[in-house]
Amino acid sequence: MASIPNEFIETLLDRIDIADVVGARVTLKKAGKDFSGLCPFHAENTPSFTVSQQKQFYHCFGCGKNGSAIGFLMEYEGLDFVDAVKDLAQLAGMEVPMTQYAGQQKHKTNLYAATEKAARIFQQQLKASPQVIRYLKQRQISGQTSKTFQLGYALNEWDGLIKRFGADEQQALAKTGLTTQNDHGRVYDKFRNRLIFPIHDKRGRVIAFGGRAIEADQKPKYLNSPETDLFHKSNELYGLHLARKHSNEDHVLVVEGYMDVVALHEKGVCNAVATLGTATSAQHISNLFKVWDKIVFCFDGDNAGIQAAEKAMITALPLYLDNKIIEFLFLPEGEDPDSFVLKNGKDGFLAAIKMAKPLADFLLEIISRNININSIDGKAQLYEKAKGYIRQLPKGAFKTMIAQQIGEISGVALKVTNQPTPQQKKPETGENPLRKLISLLLNTPQFCENLSNKLNLRALSFKGIEIVDKIIEIQHNNPQINAAAMMEHFRDSEYSPYLGHLMRMYDHLDESQKALEFEDILNYLNKLTSKAEIERLRNKQLQSGLNSAEKQALVQLLRQKSNQ
Ligand SMILES: [Zn+2]
Repeated sequence: MASIPNEFIETLLDRIDIADVVGARVTLKKAGKDFSGLCPFHAENTPSFTVSQQKQFYHCFGCGKNGSAIGFLMEYEGLDFVDAVKDLAQLAGMEVPMTQYAGQQKHKTNLYAATEKAARIFQQQLKASPQVIRYLKQRQISGQTSKTFQLGYALNEWDGLIKRFGADEQQALAKTGLTTQNDHGRVYDKFRNRLIFPIHDKRGRVIAFGGRAIEADQKPKYLNSPETDLFHKSNELYGLHLARKHSNEDHVLVVEGYMDVVALHEKGVCNAVATLGTATSAQHISNLFKVWDKIVFCFDGDNAGIQAAEKAMITALPLYLDNKIIEFLFLPEGEDPDSFVLKNGKDGFLAAIKMAKPLADFLLEIISRNININSIDGKAQLYEKAKGYIRQLPKGAFKTMIAQQIGEISGVALKVTNQPTPQQKKPETGENPLRKLISLLLNTPQFCENLSNKLNLRALSFKGIEIVDKIIEIQHNNPQINAAAMMEHFRDSEYSPYLGHLMRMYDHLDESQKALEFEDILNYLNKLTSKAEIERLRNKQLQSGLNSAEKQALVQLLRQKSNQ
């Protein structure tokens, strides 16, 4: 766990209510003793997402995601552990203990300070670079837009940035990926002689940089910051904070380059974002669907563009709900949004968007590509190919419609089965008694007090027995601990995903039924352990003999056994 003390986490999770935290972001309905709603982490039309107030824990029966309020915020808001705790603490009016918290927080504060400072330096340097200013003018980028995007210029020097940072700031500078080291240990600026595009997170903080080459022979043409503690490519989209701020549109445009976003913004199309040198990820799509209901992907009309579009479509299929819309805009060959909007203006671009291809059309095009649908062979091929794609779609009207269309073209009705997709299968929880015991102890940590000292679980060679020890120890130190806080102790443990699934083994029982179940399992485990102990003592008796204490123990065990 991070450097925040466990006791603080426990108190925090005791003070806040997960139903409030989740309820502020997901529509929840009371369902029995729990709440339920549509899972924000996977596409679904019928709720399989539940929130238990008693356990202070959420769980999705569809995708298997689960956790405490902290885990929920991390997943939903894309926060790291410390930031999620901080947000919750604020909600509860508590202060995160600074002594413990300081280290990690200071590290990040230092990194943000370095990226912000670098962005300011680059921005100042832009004014002194006639070459870059000329380039921006050619692209019709105004001073105002340059300012909005904090465009800048990296000097053509090995230490242009390094020498502007003090000795005490060099380490942070390196950790932001702005400097790099060669084989001889020499540190130098990563971005040199480049037009700089600061990359912001959704809160508008500078987290990384992109740099475009200035000279024609400069390689590579585009350069991005590496992954750092602040920057995770598959999570971030260039221009997202501005698109959220400046646009009232019902849709977002996903384009391929920074310059596309900037050029569109200049012409008054303020709802564009760009991926950062990676393919569109599922995380990107679900982040965008949290803000907009419609995504228009904008690609070049060439082969590479169509391939990228196909990739994006395949990523999007499992997330494609009936209330969401995805469209694909293919620009004429050789054009990107930047050049297209320059030539055709805002109105020309908006007219093109109106012509964007609905996902259904693009999907059918991809499925029937290179297939002669007039031949019987072709029809069979089409049918086979379509099945693979349709399987990816969540249940709903769209899936049914696509299946019908394929049926009409191929002449074979495609069954839309309602069997769960692989990811919706129930996680394996198994029936071994140790798992049952762990599940009950996690659910109701206070059961630990009823565990007899005599129960010698060590006698059994069950894997994971150390978890029980750990749970007992945690509960001993905090007798009132709730289920969610107990789970937080295992956050960084290899058992964490497995424990999440065990948590719901007894969801169908109320507290008094759980207590009875606990009794049963204890009795059963008692029998198992004494049996194992008898065996061990008998073996020892045969091999090396028993001392008097052991003999007494064996006699007692055998007597107990005959009484059972
Ligand atoms: Zn889910």
